[in-house]
Amino acid sequence: MFVLIYFSCKFSALERMGPMKKILLIHTGGTMGMSPGKSGNVASTQFIDEVFQYVPGVRDIAAIDFQSQFTVDSSNISTNHWVDLGTLLSNNMERFDGFVVIHGTDTMSYTASALSFMLNNLPKPVILTGSQRPLSAIRTDAKSNLINAIELATYDIPEVCVFFDYKLFRGNRAKKISIDDFDAFASPNFPLLAQVGLHIEIKNNHRMPAGMFRLDKAFSNEVLCLRLFPGVDPVYFESLTQSDVKVIILEAFGAGNVPVLEHSVIPFIKKMSHSGKLVAITSQSMNGSVDLHLYDCGQQALDAGAMTCGDMTTEAAITKAMYLLGQFEGNTAKVRNNFTLSLAGEITE
Ligand code: ASP
Repeated sequence: MFVLIYFSCKFSALERMGPMKKILLIHTGGTMGMSPGKSGNVASTQFIDEVFQYVPGVRDIAAIDFQSQFTVDSSNISTNHWVDLGTLLSNNMERFDGFVVIHGTDTMSYTASALSFMLNNLPKPVILTGSQRPLSAIRTDAKSNLINAIELATYDIPEVCVFFDYKLFRGNRAKKISIDDFDAFASPNFPLLAQVGLHIEIKNNHRMPAGMFRLDKAFSNEVLCLRLFPGVDPVYFESLTQSDVKVIILEAFGAGNVPVLEHSVIPFIKKMSHSGKLVAITSQSMNGSVDLHLYDCGQQALDAGAMTCGDMTTEAAITKAMYLLGQFEGNTAKVRNNFTLSLAGEITE
């Protein structure tokens, strides 16, 4: 084990022995490939030319092929885009050694989470990256994010990851935490998978496939996320009990606490449960795990039928609910049975 770690720490892909790895670079949009337009930054259609113009050296890291199915500001990403992307990755799984997906930073952690659930027993690395400034800008983080993501995709890290600012994160644990820092992502409840400095330090805590690779493509959008705040009137939630929404992710306080006095949300949670719907409690605090036993304000939610999101990010909890509802065709009992299990390392069981 020590020898393996030593090797991976010491050498870059340029220096490692063996035939050049084949990497598929997929462009989906976002700032990295944008250029200034009349109404703010807009997607460039010439992105691959720009890559070879601004960072020609990437050809020395790997044999790179390029695909672009859609180029959008990632605020426009929806479940159809995830299905397209998952299908593209699955169709090319045999042909390439690794994948780099250029994606807008705004919803990158949602796409990373969704892909981590779709791509079961993933045998190759899928690394999402983007940047805070376009590749064509002089002072940009795009070059280093792109070069390092491509290099890391040549390693044996068979996970959906996010690479940003010299750090490789498990994708379904990553969160965008800054609008304008280059250091824009964090993984509050799971350690880094790799860190890039003078050397590439692989932490060797990544997952490995446990069976045959399988793509799951069904998602449901009968999911809603609600954020609690002091004074919120649960009367506004009432109509949801009659709606098509099947899972509510409730962003509660601290360890998962909810109001139980004047503006109690307990009757709402009870009504949801009685109508066969689910309420899953996540926290507005980034670090740590929801524990509904810790306070009466959490225990009452649990007794009313709420589930815990544990230490999942809100992004992972939302996409997991969409994925499970899709897989189980809306059967909320089955969703409940699977929601707190780790499907792709997104939760500490
Ligand atoms: N709005 C952009 C996007 O998410 C922001 C970015 O890429 O950083 O597509």
